[in-house]
Amino acid sequence: MMETVGMVRIFQRSLSHRSVRYTSYIGDGDSKTFSSITASNPYGEDITVSKIECVGHVQKRMGTRLRKLKQMSSKLRDGKSIGGKGRLTDRMIDLITTYYGNAIRQNKTCLSDMRKAVWAVYFHIRSSNEEPLHSFCPVGPNSWCKYQNQVVEGSVETFRHSNKLPVAVMDAIKPVFNDLSQPKLLQKCLGGKTQNNNESINSLIWKLCPKTLGCGRKIVDISTNEVIVIFNDGNQGRLKIMQSLGLTVGQFAHKFVTLVDIKEFRLQKYILISAQKKYDRLKECNLKLLVRN
Ligand SMILES: [Zn+2]
Repeated sequence: MMETVGMVRIFQRSLSHRSVRYTSYIGDGDSKTFSSITASNPYGEDITVSKIECVGHVQKRMGTRLRKLKQMSSKLRDGKSIGGKGRLTDRMIDLITTYYGNAIRQNKTCLSDMRKAVWAVYFHIRSSNEEPLHSFCPVGPNSWCKYQNQVVEGSVETFRHSNKLPVAVMDAIKPVFNDLSQPKLLQKCLGGKTQNNNESINSLIWKLCPKTLGCGRKIVDISTNEVIVIFNDGNQGRLKIMQSLGLTVGQFAHKFVTLVDIKEFRLQKYILISAQKKYDRLKECNLKLLVRN
């Protein structure tokens, strides 16, 4: 509720306070906020605000839907449960979720390519020796699809699928792909935008004035302004605030913020490198799994 009221207010005062119109809104699927913005009609009848989906949140939906399906107790048409070894495992769910997200991100400028890439994931995993379904997979020697690699080499007859997901499981998860490949949804993912930057600045603000303490508006205002300074200039920016308040900034303060900024920079670099390594490992292991399918 608070978020809804705040967002409507931000849109309504954008012209008078900032001389800009926010014509796109990126949200995490909470439709209440967006419908309140459109209902408030901030820029009149002629200019509408459109909603963009955060790719990260849309990607998560795949995992959530598949995990929900996995909890299904009824048997599939082959008489077995959906989960279990060689079926819809947590590992397989993570793999499909990652590939779904990649299909969106790697085709962020073209809706039809994006949709095709999402279905490529489904049909590639469904493929078997009896029924290879790689027509949506990228073609050429550099494709992630080994089947398509062998098509180029002219040795596709020797390609063997080791099917990881039985047809009954693939049939069960097809409605999820159907829903999550709807043009209406994917259209909102064009541009490949995420909420990460906003969330990262938010988390810094809450660090200065924890939600649990119930800080007043003044404190939230000060914290927000300070975080913006840190975001733009690092902790060095805090010294400028001190100077403009008439405080004397000594060499120890300079030394301190320099050290904090270096430490923060190293930490961020470490996080980035570790994330890249994790991504590479996952990609390598996912590719191996997909190749076997
Ligand atoms: Zn393929």
